[in-house]
Amino acid sequence: MSKQSVMSKQSVLNPAPLTDALARLEDTGETDLAGATALFGARGDNLDRLLNVASRLRDDGLARASREGIITYSKKVFLPVTQLCQDRCHYCVFVETPGGLLKKGIPTYLPPEEILRIAREGAALGCKEALFTLGDRPENRWPVARQWLEDHGYTSTLDYIGAMAELVLTETGLLPHLNPGVMSFAELQRLRPVAASMGLMLETTATRSGASAGECTLVPRTRILLCGCG
Ligand code: SF4
Repeated sequence: MSKQSVMSKQSVLNPAPLTDALARLEDTGETDLAGATALFGARGDNLDRLLNVASRLRDDGLARASREGIITYSKKVFLPVTQLCQDRCHYCVFVETPGGLLKKGIPTYLPPEEILRIAREGAALGCKEALFTLGDRPENRWPVARQWLEDHGYTSTLDYIGAMAELVLTETGLLPHLNPGVMSFAELQRLRPVAASMGLMLETTATRSGASAGECTLVPRTRILLCGCG
């Protein structure tokens, strides 16, 4: 049974926590951990009430910020620089093996001209950002990645990403957003002049998660520390 159906079954058997949490949310706009957990079980009329109060809170927030009815967003173009990665996160649907890339006819790394072509197309369509997606230091695991970098004059994937971010920034004006995984402070500093922003995924703070220390850099503590230093 899924976690969600367990929660909704609990709220059917004992509706009081959900009813109380909903009433409190409608009255005060506030909830707490127990209330938020109970709200996951909202269905039917209760779900409609929950969505109504959520809309009201959103609109109130926008009005307070003098942005009534305005939701902003930034169009971005995806640049899948490489789908190779040193990690083996079992849920990942992005990552590929060298054999998988070969079968699909996808290059080890997108070459500069292809990166620029996609970025230019994005800019022509009104994008403002270039989102560089890639695996974490594939050269640590895959000889084919090491070879490609060496053949093209780059010392590492981060070195290549820095060069490509600079190319996209200067040639298209798109703002690079980089997602290269866990980096040292020195590496972050090196990429900073060519990146408007950098991202790092933190799927969970739970240490019992599927991220297995040793073969995966998705170790929550490492990622939390890194967020703290940026
Ligand atoms: S680190 Fe990211 S890209 Fe690599 S396998 Fe894990 S989720 Fe996929």
